Amino acid sequence: MASDWPKAAVVGWPAEHSLSPLIMKTWLDETGQPGDYVIIECEPDAFAQAVRARFHAGLAGVNVTVPHKEAALGAADQASDAARGIGAANVLIWRQGRIEADNTDHIGIARALESDSGSGPAVLIGAGGAARAALYHLKDQDREIRILNRTADRAKALAQDFGLKAEIYALDEAAAFDGASLVINATSLGMTGQPPLSVDLSGTASDALVFDMVYAPLKTELLAQAEQLGRRTADGLIMLVGQARPAFEAFFGAPAPEHDGVRTALLAALEHRA
Ligand code: NAP
Repeated sequence: MASDWPKAAVVGWPAEHSLSPLIMKTWLDETGQPGDYVIIECEPDAFAQAVRARFHAGLAGVNVTVPHKEAALGAADQASDAARGIGAANVLIWRQGRIEADNTDHIGIARALESDSGSGPAVLIGAGGAARAALYHLKDQDREIRILNRTADRAKALAQDFGLKAEIYALDEAAAFDGASLVINATSLGMTGQPPLSVDLSGTASDALVFDMVYAPLKTELLAQAEQLGRRTADGLIMLVGQARPAFEAFFGAPAPEHDGVRTALLAALEHRA
């Protein structure tokens, strides 16, 4: 019976724009796994109470989106190293009456950066939650880290939180890119409706990998510039799908399919929205 199926949700404010239902429902269809996935819109003040009540009512887990990721960590009874390290949770699981928090964004980032050498200078643009997840991925690599952010103090605090000696640059400092083998955009700049991210990638290493977390549009100006220069690129959908995989398995008890079906579905949805 459908009511006995594992049920999960995305919780946000707002949440109706979330692509998580499409990802999870595509995988449920593809695997034939029984399960249901819904959207829960919840105001910030009500988050902790509302989520706990839903868990008591039978929810198996939730994906957490803006603006609840920090509150999600606070609402949990226990948290993974990643959630504690990043300081936020994007997944909550109900296990034996306790809420477990996890942060799988760094897993999505690792997917996007699979072809990164892990050695030359890495340029991280941004100092918000997504940048924290990127730094969690980079923190144990033996490489120079440079952070660019509009608000320099926020970038300094981010590096300090991770105990890293990062060089801090302004967004328009071209020198930040000299010899860089990895560039990550973890700001919302370049997203539809936002100002573009105006940086000059010409100083990056010829085999540099440029990763943009923005996925609408899929080919941002940053990625177009990287392609023109012959650099390798990774787009935000790789991260979006990569962070959803462990959540699907935790909610529904089966691994998500590895083939491209979900990416095709997401591309169609993004095209429809545009
Ligand atoms: P956030 O915590 O609000 O941080 C936003 C970042 O963008 C900050 O560094 C902020 O700089 C910068 N920024 C915003 N508007 C700016 C402007 N007009 N000029 C200069 N800098 C500006 O947001 P977040 O959660 O880190 O998310 C950042 C981006 O990553 C979003 O586009 C989000 O969609 C994307 N993301 C993608 C995935 C994925 O799966 N692909 C997952 C998570 C996030 P200040 O510090 O100066 O304010």
